[in-house]
Amino acid sequence: MKTTTRPAFAALILTLATGCHAVSTPAPAAAPRVVHAEHEHEDLAAQLVASEMAAAREGTPLPLPSAQPGQLVQPGCSAAPAQKGFYGFYANDAWAQGRVVLTFDDGPHPKFTPRVLDLLAEKKMKATFFVVGRNISRDTYPLIQRMVADGHTLGSHSYSHDVLMTKVATPADTVETIRSQHEVTTILIDIALVAKSADDFDALFRSTFEHEPATWMTATGIKKTWRSAATRHEANLKARGFDGGVRPYAVLYSRPPGGGPYVEQDGGAGIKLYDEALTKLGMMNVMWHGASGDTVPDKRSDFAFLTKNMEKYAKQGGVLLIHDYMRPDALEVSLAKIDVDPHVEVMSMEDAVRTKYACSVGGLGQKLDDRGMDAILRRGFGLPPARPASEPSFALSR
Ligand SMILES: [Zn+2]
Repeated sequence: MKTTTRPAFAALILTLATGCHAVSTPAPAAAPRVVHAEHEHEDLAAQLVASEMAAAREGTPLPLPSAQPGQLVQPGCSAAPAQKGFYGFYANDAWAQGRVVLTFDDGPHPKFTPRVLDLLAEKKMKATFFVVGRNISRDTYPLIQRMVADGHTLGSHSYSHDVLMTKVATPADTVETIRSQHEVTTILIDIALVAKSADDFDALFRSTFEHEPATWMTATGIKKTWRSAATRHEANLKARGFDGGVRPYAVLYSRPPGGGPYVEQDGGAGIKLYDEALTKLGMMNVMWHGASGDTVPDKRSDFAFLTKNMEKYAKQGGVLLIHDYMRPDALEVSLAKIDVDPHVEVMSMEDAVRTKYACSVGGLGQKLDDRGMDAILRRGFGLPPARPASEPSFALSR
């Protein structure tokens, strides 16, 4: 397995050239983060899997999209949102056969994610990683840096991976919960990208969240404190040479844990609240058209089941849902098949946006940007390569 290295910050910035970019249930107690020893990695994987199993619907293949090449392009950035839900990708999207977007959920994981990154590098494929905020730590922050350095796209999969976060008591509380989950994850992505060492990551974490990085924050805690954390985050970025309001990375994509309200039968009310949160976040919502099946109980270790799903949905085209912890040999064989299949082309999330919305990611990102938000929430749209700290701010005017 290739050793993960931390690229120089300048190199990271170079890769950012196109950077446009719960709950009615009791809040989970701060759980100790599991790190270091191999068996502990397995424990963490087991926890992740258990979390996914609880939301087994996430791995359930959704109805086939009505893939009709030629129907893909909707009017440009000024178009109305997608028919169902906020801007983004949904199971009923039309899609060209064989054009597949690879998405990996639930990382970064110290054991599984490096293997995924190695495979993608070997095949020269670009993917999108929907990372879980609480998985970004002193042990995994170099993986976030490597994702960006390798040209992949980062999205938020929430901080706590709470599949019930759209079921908070009141509507306003629900919207705030969803928002805090993704906002905190974007802050953690930033911290991971600017950290110079594991100790530096922890120092930034402590300074930003006023919380010990060795334990997870609670969903109720971040809902109360994310705004003040965002203010401290901005101050820390300024101290590192970022102009006011400019962030290292613009997170434009999000995916609800378990698929959230979009895959529930009674999700109408939840969808409305989730869409409201997405509007405030300025993020697209990325669902999927096919899934590897790596969360399906009793099937997730079935090599033939996994590879068959991967092959089928890659040929069909659309957004393909995979998890970092998918059975390694099945993932390797599947990617090798995709690589040599003349009828399958791996496309980036950015290309998928351009195809669906006939609009650049930057253009759509600016459209999605909520101009009512505080300065800290400005995104790094148009951040040029290797921007010297002395240049004028590229933050959006408000
Ligand atoms: Zn997930």
